[in-house]
Amino acid sequence: MRIEAIRQALRDTGAKDCHVERVLRAWSQGKALDAGPRHQPADSYLPLALRKALPDLAAELSGLARLRSEHPGEDGSSRLLVELADGQMAESVLLPRDGLCVSTQIGCAVGCTFCMTGRDGLLRQVSSGEMVAQVVLGRSRRPVKRVVFMGMGEPSHNIDNVLDAIDLLGTAGAIGHKNLVFSTVGDLRVFSRLPQQRVVPALAISLHSTRAELRAQLLPKAAPIAPAELVDLAEHYARTTGYPIQYQWTLLDGINDSFEEMDGIVDLLAGKYAIMNLIPYNATAALDYRRPPLERVTALARYLHGRGIRTTVRNSAGQDIDGGCGQLRARQHEAESGGDTGSAPLKRHRSRRQGANSVV
Ligand code: SAH
Ligand code: SF4
Repeated sequence: MRIEAIRQALRDTGAKDCHVERVLRAWSQGKALDAGPRHQPADSYLPLALRKALPDLAAELSGLARLRSEHPGEDGSSRLLVELADGQMAESVLLPRDGLCVSTQIGCAVGCTFCMTGRDGLLRQVSSGEMVAQVVLGRSRRPVKRVVFMGMGEPSHNIDNVLDAIDLLGTAGAIGHKNLVFSTVGDLRVFSRLPQQRVVPALAISLHSTRAELRAQLLPKAAPIAPAELVDLAEHYARTTGYPIQYQWTLLDGINDSFEEMDGIVDLLAGKYAIMNLIPYNATAALDYRRPPLERVTALARYLHGRGIRTTVRNSAGQDIDGGCGQLRARQHEAESGGDTGSAPLKRHRSRRQGANSVV
């Protein structure tokens, strides 16, 4: 359900725009739909026909994203397996410090060779209403002041829905614009559309290599924009919006963790308004990559730092429960289809799943 359809359903009751917006504000902030000014009964600020429609609407909205299970990590994050109205599964992650990571697609057409979400291609788009519903679900568990569109899916491939969700979250949803983060492998539509919006989000760019050839191998269906051009476009975005670009680099042992690659980063990013986030690969049994040893990760971060690149090492949240992008969903899918490959790593997953904190 798109946000516009929710708006229309409210308007169809004869409600005025101010009443429609009041209900959307209550919903996106995780309150009861008829929540209004303190100490005032709903009949003083919402028309009767609208109030009568709210219970059905509330039931429909809560069906947009239901909690299937919760998997807390040791780092303060908690992964949520979320069931959408048609039974599809998405993942959201509650992050330390009031953040939430939401999914924008079920599956993904970019097909990055190290990512579980990309393994089966795109299954379906996630609607703008379902994205806001993930935030509402997150807010039912913890305060949410930062929303990153870094879960399953490539936001630029579902850009209208993502921008509608960002618009509502940055207005009625009361989330600071710089705390809304659009994460992408890069697409020309991102650079033309985002600056035009009423709510302009911060931008994260998944770079992974500065060598066009290797990048094309790792991200087979990403838009064919050369890394240097991507950085130019992003730099322009950073300078016009005032938010630094958050580059993301999933570190894969023996693939993109060489000092030559780090020199490529220095060449492209020196003097840029940017932060480089090194994300050690979150290993999955199904894919054949490895995470570099910790000493190497630290050495790479130091190397970049020493050459003037603002660098952080970010563990993808919930690593201790093997809950990287798309991994929870993949495991759930496997369990439901009875898929038992009999492999030792999958058995390991299964016992861990039992250890996870299932709340429903
Ligand atoms: N499609 C968008 C947003 C979702 S992916 C994008 O690619 O930016 C968000 C991030 O998760 C990407 O930077 C991706 O490289 C990273 N990622 C995916 N699988 C991972 C894994 N197994 N370990 C570490 N990072 C991973
Ligand atoms: Fe899609 Fe991002 Fe995964 Fe690549 S890393 S397959 S773009 S979700």
